[in-house]
Amino acid sequence: MIVMKFGGSSLATSDALTRVAGLIAARVRRAPVVVVSAMGRTTDRLVDAVDLAARGEPAAARRRVAALRDDLLAAAAPVLADVAGLEGLLDAHCDELDRALAELAAGDERARPRLTDAALSHGERISSRVMTRLLRQHGLDAAYVDARDVLVTDDRFTEAAPLFGPTNERIGRLVRPHGAAGRVVVMGGFIARTADGRPSTLGRGGSDFSASIVGAGIGAEEIQIWTDVDGVMTADPSLVPDAQPLPRLSFAEASELAYFGGRVLHPRTVLPAVEGDIPVRVLNSRKPEVEGTLIVAACPPSGLTVKSIAHKEGITVIDVRSTRMLMAHGFLAAIFEVFDRLQTAVDVVSTSEVAVSLTIDRTDRLADLLAALRRIAEVRHTGGQAIVCLVGEAIRDTPGVAATLFSALPEINVRMVSQGSARNNVSLVIDERDVPAAVRALHAAFFDAPAAESA
Ligand code: ASP
Ligand code: MG
Repeated sequence: MIVMKFGGSSLATSDALTRVAGLIAARVRRAPVVVVSAMGRTTDRLVDAVDLAARGEPAAARRRVAALRDDLLAAAAPVLADVAGLEGLLDAHCDELDRALAELAAGDERARPRLTDAALSHGERISSRVMTRLLRQHGLDAAYVDARDVLVTDDRFTEAAPLFGPTNERIGRLVRPHGAAGRVVVMGGFIARTADGRPSTLGRGGSDFSASIVGAGIGAEEIQIWTDVDGVMTADPSLVPDAQPLPRLSFAEASELAYFGGRVLHPRTVLPAVEGDIPVRVLNSRKPEVEGTLIVAACPPSGLTVKSIAHKEGITVIDVRSTRMLMAHGFLAAIFEVFDRLQTAVDVVSTSEVAVSLTIDRTDRLADLLAALRRIAEVRHTGGQAIVCLVGEAIRDTPGVAATLFSALPEINVRMVSQGSARNNVSLVIDERDVPAAVRALHAAFFDAPAAESA
């Protein structure tokens, strides 16, 4: 069996839907489990509706839902024979959504994450139903599986973590037998339920994670992530027009990239695949003939020192300075205890004799963090920062990476530098405004240099 996961942009229009059905039909002999995101920007639009409802504007929220319904109908109606059936499906979901939004508008702040997940679940529930109907129309024996019956999570709504024991048991019971019987399984990504049956989600972009959990659970031959780009790129092509797709990446490289802003994969995606030693292939649904990127446990040397340059904006740097405690023992522990207690993940850390700098990307607890840290030291924070991360396993054994890096950036103020212990990445923290120039300069320095020499 294989897993084929399709992102929202691969499902956004009638043409896209037809293309995807063709891709699946061409692979029926590999017994695909199809995992779909919500169509197009559905989830963003549901988030808008949820925000409006939570602000006490349920009528405006309902109008957003009605507009979304019309757009989904316009995308799916041309490819589905049973348009009345499609309308019935969309109407049933919209009614349920309207009720969820009304509850949100009336409910208190504490219920909001749970009700948000209930509302967002409709995106994937609709897309998976639409895809099932479309595949049946293409003559495939497609089995619809409600992903919420399969994925079991904890109750951290909007960012729930899977409970692998019960989830794997259900994958074995509800998903795998279809493959053995030659049926194509269709399920939504992202959505799940808690052990006591309340709807949850795996966090934004979580469909990749679903695909990887299901792939590991069925022991898939391969997990295919179908996107609208040619694979994992050497840099963001919107900044670097001559960025190239990478034929191969190791799992370690892929997870560094995912953490530091690689836009193709969800950070947690690769974990279940790594544990199951299942290759992950990133492919372009518009150009299926392109080889894409294959992510495997270990990959042969590629001749590239740096394989990709990722970046992530919206970073806040927190500088913690203690003249009194210097690096006295217990100082770092006290700092990290604060981040732990306030459940804020730290991405990059660098230390000097008197100061520790840390970066965070979630600022919802910033005021509490600053207050708690001020009890132990002097604290400053700066928003509008970005992480630029160079990833490649060969960085470990190649002298001169730092020299190339710094000489590529003569004009740019580098605020923090960090090389992880795996030494397969170097991260820089710079001002957000410097990102385009820095990424272009680094891409030229690490990827164009050999070509320039031979020219
Ligand atoms: N539809 C969800 C989102 O947009 C999950 C996903 O696409 O991976 O975040
Ligand atoms: Mg996505």
